[in-house]
Amino acid sequence: MNSYFITTLGCPKNQADSRQMERSLLRAGYRPVPVAEDADFHLINSCAFVESARAETIETVLSSAGLKRSRPRQKLVLVGCFAERYAGVLEDELPEVDFAFGTGRYQLAGELLSQHFGAPEAVALAGFGEFLRVGQTAAPVKISEGCNRGCAFCAIPTFRGAFRDIPSVEILEEVRKLVADGVREIDLVSQDTNRYGGKVENLLTLLSELHQVPELTWIRLLYLYPDARTLQIWRGIVERGLDRVVPYLESPVQHASDRVLRAMRRSGSYAQFVDLFGSVRSLRPELEVRTSLLLGFPGEEDSDVATVIDFVREVRPEKLALFAYSQEEDTPGFARGDPIPREEKAARLNAVREAHLEVLHELHLERVGRQFQAMIESSEGAPIVRRAQDAPEVDELVYLDAAAPGLKAGEVCTVEITGFFEYDMTGRIVESVTDRAESHQSASSGAQG
Ligand code: SF4
Repeated sequence: MNSYFITTLGCPKNQADSRQMERSLLRAGYRPVPVAEDADFHLINSCAFVESARAETIETVLSSAGLKRSRPRQKLVLVGCFAERYAGVLEDELPEVDFAFGTGRYQLAGELLSQHFGAPEAVALAGFGEFLRVGQTAAPVKISEGCNRGCAFCAIPTFRGAFRDIPSVEILEEVRKLVADGVREIDLVSQDTNRYGGKVENLLTLLSELHQVPELTWIRLLYLYPDARTLQIWRGIVERGLDRVVPYLESPVQHASDRVLRAMRRSGSYAQFVDLFGSVRSLRPELEVRTSLLLGFPGEEDSDVATVIDFVREVRPEKLALFAYSQEEDTPGFARGDPIPREEKAARLNAVREAHLEVLHELHLERVGRQFQAMIESSEGAPIVRRAQDAPEVDELVYLDAAAPGLKAGEVCTVEITGFFEYDMTGRIVESVTDRAESHQSASSGAQG
């Protein structure tokens, strides 16, 4: 017994945690296999953020338990947020799980497995490091853990704990290792990125240090709380010429009605958000915005939903995540109950989604014929690229109209958008790294002649 497979659910923060877990497993002598069916230990890094995330975790556990029929010795290990939050009832409620441990113990995964199931059988590990990240162009890197904000709907502070930074030396060390493995984009993740280091200056210093890492092409900041600090950070990025930070602002507003925002214990207002997004966009005009909205919070009325729709039409966020409120134990808002029926929440979400799809259609029309910097995601078969304005996993991709020989994953090219589907786009390469190198070479040989 020594092989493992990790299924990662939830947000990019969980991906960063899975990587930490992976390192611990490798150190302890376990080896990765490419599919869950072949693993002695199937680890599920779970999510418990909202009802739908919990349902996904439960479904994954149950379907993974089905796999064990063909591999009866396989052990199912539940890790992370769900395991932490429901530690007390897991044994009764999910008996399919053989072993569980919560957040904050990822770096001990190897030791925990060995203690519980016995030491892994010895294997040669050479070459497994490469197996882990073949062709991976982007990777999330965690810069802090926990949150102090106390939003009324959110249980994260109860199981992720208070906010604490990860020292910049550790972050830089992790980034250097990833870049050495071929990663070209780093996505900085946390529960509350703009609080990093206690002041704006410290996050800017970290970004400047990351600019010193050779071959790191793009740096993406995820989860900037929509307050004044986010604008200060973007001002600093522009003033310092930190141009590897991609033109992408992820800032979840969660609602746009001032009344609901107060009830949610969130800061900001409709007017402040409009101002914030407008100001950041004027600093980096090619920047695109991702935000999220939580509909159906207790007390939300039709007029609040209309305000949200106005907001979507006014701010025109290029990317929008929509969630339905669910009552969460141990949250400041728990006592308010969950009075809005599920069907009504779904109808509200649909109304906002419809409004956003109209916005997205207009945005797509404006993009056709425009050129963007894009990273080669996959050069196999029909090549796929991803613009700097799109985050890995969650945002849009660009499918190339024609094969582009000589492209390598992780290289950056200029792509022109030629068409679009509902979300993704089609495009053609206008200039690739190879073109640039050749034109540079002919220019310099011309100069010599
Ligand atoms: S900022 Fe609010 S929603 Fe985000 S993790 Fe903290 S408490 Fe939860």
